Amino acid sequence: MMGTTPILVLKEGTRRDRGRSAQTSNIAAAKAIADAVRSTLGPRGMDKMLVDGMGDVVITNDGVTILKEIDVEHPAAKMLVEVAKTQDQEVGDGTTTAVILAGEILKRAEDMVEQKIHPTVIAQGYRMAAEKATELLEELAEKVGPKDKDTLGKIAATSMISKAISANREQFADLAVKAVLRVAEEVAGAWQVDEDNIQIVKKQGGAVTDSEMVDGIIVDKERVHTAMPTRLEKAKVALVNAALEVKKTEFDARIQISNPEQLQAFLGEEENIIRGFVDALKGVGATVVFGQKGIDDMAQHFLAKEGIYTIRRVKKSDMEKLTKATGGRLVTKIQAISSADLGTAELVEERKIGNDDMTFVTGCKEAKAVSILLRGGTEHVVDELERSLDDALNVVRAAVEDGKMLTGGGSVHIELSLALRDYAPSVGGREQMAIEAFASAFEVVPRTLAENAGLDPIDTLLELRTAHTKGRKHHGIDLESGKVLDMRKLDVLEPMRVTKQAVASATDTAVMILRIDDVIASKGFKAGEGEAGEGGPEGEFD
Ligand code: ADP
Ligand code: MG
Repeated sequence: MMGTTPILVLKEGTRRDRGRSAQTSNIAAAKAIADAVRSTLGPRGMDKMLVDGMGDVVITNDGVTILKEIDVEHPAAKMLVEVAKTQDQEVGDGTTTAVILAGEILKRAEDMVEQKIHPTVIAQGYRMAAEKATELLEELAEKVGPKDKDTLGKIAATSMISKAISANREQFADLAVKAVLRVAEEVAGAWQVDEDNIQIVKKQGGAVTDSEMVDGIIVDKERVHTAMPTRLEKAKVALVNAALEVKKTEFDARIQISNPEQLQAFLGEEENIIRGFVDALKGVGATVVFGQKGIDDMAQHFLAKEGIYTIRRVKKSDMEKLTKATGGRLVTKIQAISSADLGTAELVEERKIGNDDMTFVTGCKEAKAVSILLRGGTEHVVDELERSLDDALNVVRAAVEDGKMLTGGGSVHIELSLALRDYAPSVGGREQMAIEAFASAFEVVPRTLAENAGLDPIDTLLELRTAHTKGRKHHGIDLESGKVLDMRKLDVLEPMRVTKQAVASATDTAVMILRIDDVIASKGFKAGEGEAGEGGPEGEFD
């Protein structure tokens, strides 16, 4: 008889999850991820303490940091983690918001799937809603430019309000604005900020308020010899990627020395080589040497005698920054150095920071480069400071580059929610339901902000809706007073890019997850092992 032998297509042990069941489990996993970060949203959000396998502790409020640290196994959950990563890469802030939004639109999709609306229809409706939302964002946004320093400061401060350094946020907002504007460039009518030109240097110790911006580059190294000067004005900088030492032979060589003259000659030869290096550097007029490799005692001694400020074993990344900033060229053959290889800096100086000496290279006219030196009592403080400052730098950059900003505190989300509800009937059909669901999903942001502040979420949402129906477009939740107030007056401002990107990546991921109706996991697949890295988990479904 036909059909009695089952045809095995998949290898034994393959796990398979199909249809509704696949959708339900994917959505459940995505929701779990969103729930994991919910409580951190907003100024009244809590922090999380993460402990890794080695017992190392990270304390943070940053959505993407939390999700990167926790080990996620479910493939759909991994996709949600990717939302946070994308948001972090594209904008640098709003990671929690993006994840919560993705979780919420998926949750609402689940209800529709239960009502037998086909996932592709939902996906289509969601796409339309996202497109409309983006248009609305452009309309709602207000202009901001590099000249509006105050406003940019407020944008920076808003991004830091939920962080541990909130008390010092004015100081750091100021640092972020100064740093971004220092490196901002107008290219063909558009502002560009290359974040590589802003260096963050962390030095544990001292007070948070000792943090400062340096117009130049900080290298965490001290000069190799105490007889060298500590301060050089109008420095001529040689950047050397070669060892200033006599090479040890690669193989065991025996040198027969039978009388004192021979020994003298041998040592003299070594000295001559080193002398030659130092003479070459001095000959072209170098007053500062940054060496990427080693510099031996004899070389240090000669360099000190010539009054050349020298540091050794400089990190490659620092060397790259130094070449860019000083306009110098990396030299690999010291004997071949020419004066054209030298860079310049107004001042190269060694300064004591905490217990360490660091080298400050300032007044580099070639490139725009700034450093922010972060200080703080403990490693945890300095690390969280860095993450917060990073957010601040990113929002200021986004605001300067796009020239557009919005108000925060959930004001934009309510506005979008109401506007999408108005738009939905014009589409009609089943897509209309999906657009309405998307509209409701936007409310998750103000609702969560209210919940985290201990406010009644329902009352707050009602109040917000009323305000916005009356045309108060900028009304959001003032978490201090618990009232619904104008966010412009309270200086709660955000770059448009935060919300725009959150909508885009939340939609993309939700749509991708919705369209999956079959999860085929091979026997060998164990989450974590397949850490696809950059490729992300999508590949597993291709
Ligand atoms: P994310 O990782 O999404 O950036 P945050 O914890 O930084 O999460 O919280 C951002 C949210 O907090 C935004 O919706 C922002 O509008 C809101 N927010 C920030 N400052 C205030 C404030 N002073 N009052 C009300 N809401 C605020
Ligand atoms: Mg934030």
